[in-house]
Amino acid sequence: MTPASTEPRMPVLFIGHGSPMNAIEENTWTQGFRSLARQLPRPKAILSISAHWFLPGTHVTGNEHPPTIHDFGGFPRALYEMQYPARGSVELANRVVGLLGASRASVQHDWGLDHGTWTVLHHLRPEADVPVVQLSIDARLAPSEHFTLGRALAGLRDEGVLVMGSGNVTHNLRHAFTSMRSGDTTTPAWAERFDQDVARALEQRDGAFLARVIETDAGRMSHPSIDHYLPLLYAAGAAGDGGTVRFPVSGFDLGSLSMRSVLYS
Ligand code: ZN
Repeated sequence: MTPASTEPRMPVLFIGHGSPMNAIEENTWTQGFRSLARQLPRPKAILSISAHWFLPGTHVTGNEHPPTIHDFGGFPRALYEMQYPARGSVELANRVVGLLGASRASVQHDWGLDHGTWTVLHHLRPEADVPVVQLSIDARLAPSEHFTLGRALAGLRDEGVLVMGSGNVTHNLRHAFTSMRSGDTTTPAWAERFDQDVARALEQRDGAFLARVIETDAGRMSHPSIDHYLPLLYAAGAAGDGGTVRFPVSGFDLGSLSMRSVLYS
């Protein structure tokens, strides 16, 4: 990559992506994404850690032209017709393997950009004019190990790479669907509290808390499956301890789904 001295230090992002419909709907969240986009410098490349590439292994997309993956069911045709034609970056993929270690990470060509990545980048970089690489989340690792992997990526900030985690701070789909069906979208106390506790830990750069809280009863209530939480640990790790942390988007969709986004600059 280009020597660090020539590149502005990139922010680190965590985006609460919520429903795939946010790709095509005009709502509070998508307005928030576009407002956030105006605060971002143009990166040389984007490394996305999406909740939706969760499997036993640490893989990096090495495709020159990563396909747009429509990894969801039962949505309108317009969503399936969307494409996000950003190029990949073999250079960045190899750099990430170098940072994480070849014994742990490998370049793969059987994935692309899933909806955790493209439904968000559609708003952040609508021109799709910046190369995008995805990093998978190894389902076998402990939460603290994801934070450590994120920390290993911190140097990318000085190489013009925007590291972006995409998940949700709370993600209990059973509760969200029940709320949607009943029309009662009151935010439950457990979601409010978990979201606030995580926000405070992010502000205090308390990585140990962030890794620990997901294994508590409150963590299991907010995340019956851990996949949507883990991208936050990569972002928190990659951000390091300096700079500032802000929440350009916050609030709840469908009652209990935190849409909090985090901007480290
Ligand atoms: Zn998702």
